[in-house]
Amino acid sequence: MTPTIEPRPRVVAVTGGAAGIGEAVTRHMAGAGATVVALDRDRAALARLTSAAESDGLSVEAEQVDVSDEAQIAAAARRVSERHGGVDVLVCAAGVQRYGTVDEMSMDGYDEVMAVNVRGVFASCHHFVPLIRARGGGSVVVVASVQAYAAQSGVAAYAASKGALVAMVKAMAVDHAAEGIRVNAVCPGSVDTPMLRWAADRFSGDRSADDLVAEWGRSHPLGRVATPLEVAQAIAFLAGPEAGFVTGADLRVDGGLTAGLSVAL
Ligand code: NAD
Repeated sequence: MTPTIEPRPRVVAVTGGAAGIGEAVTRHMAGAGATVVALDRDRAALARLTSAAESDGLSVEAEQVDVSDEAQIAAAARRVSERHGGVDVLVCAAGVQRYGTVDEMSMDGYDEVMAVNVRGVFASCHHFVPLIRARGGGSVVVVASVQAYAAQSGVAAYAASKGALVAMVKAMAVDHAAEGIRVNAVCPGSVDTPMLRWAADRFSGDRSADDLVAEWGRSHPLGRVATPLEVAQAIAFLAGPEAGFVTGADLRVDGGLTAGLSVAL
């Protein structure tokens, strides 16, 4: 088969695109010239995003969608298809974190994590892969986590959801390679987003949340947590023509966290 150079993405859909890593992807890929459709359940965050994008001259469209509701994703995909005829890239960044061991967490808590982090990604791919196919190929990037490989305490449901995503990405990569659709995951370590700040507020106790975030940073060999932009840049690489022969990969964007053993010599 003769290799072809993929075109740079022109239309990009980003779930969870109004805050944190998703927002950084929205801004970064719109800054590179794409029209980005941010799908997010947070109406106020979407309004802030589109107004800031307009002032910055970026092409960003908002779709209010809860990815745990398949009918909402289907309706958004139809609207995006009507406006653009398809998408080149789907980035699945919407996700939630809930803490608790298996005996502490309610089954409702488990169901919520799975409904957003796994079913939400499956449903987003279910409705957007046909839109990528309509453009003759493209790519999907799913935001998993290092917790797919190694866990801190109290993350059984979250870690299970992220492990499922790494496996799903590999299966999708095999299924859709022949139609020119690449599928990859990024697995971030700690990233300074509203989700991380929410966890830091919850666990900081006597310390300040900033001190706890700095401590989490020191546990990464690079000595700090990531910025959302650093993860967005890795996602843009996987989504774009520079990664034309990369599919089924799980790229760790973790400052060396899973490369090291925290055993001092
Ligand atoms: P965040 O909470 O800061 O932002 C998430 C965005 O997703 C928000 O705009 C939120 O409204 C949206 N969202 C949440 N649930 C949704 C739903 N059901 N439907 C639609 N939108 C929804 O989170 P973040 O830190 O940017 O995380 C983004 C992704 O990265 C998540 O999948 C998370 O699990 C993963 N991740 C984050 C970290 C980290 O340290 N922040 C590390 C590894 C992986």
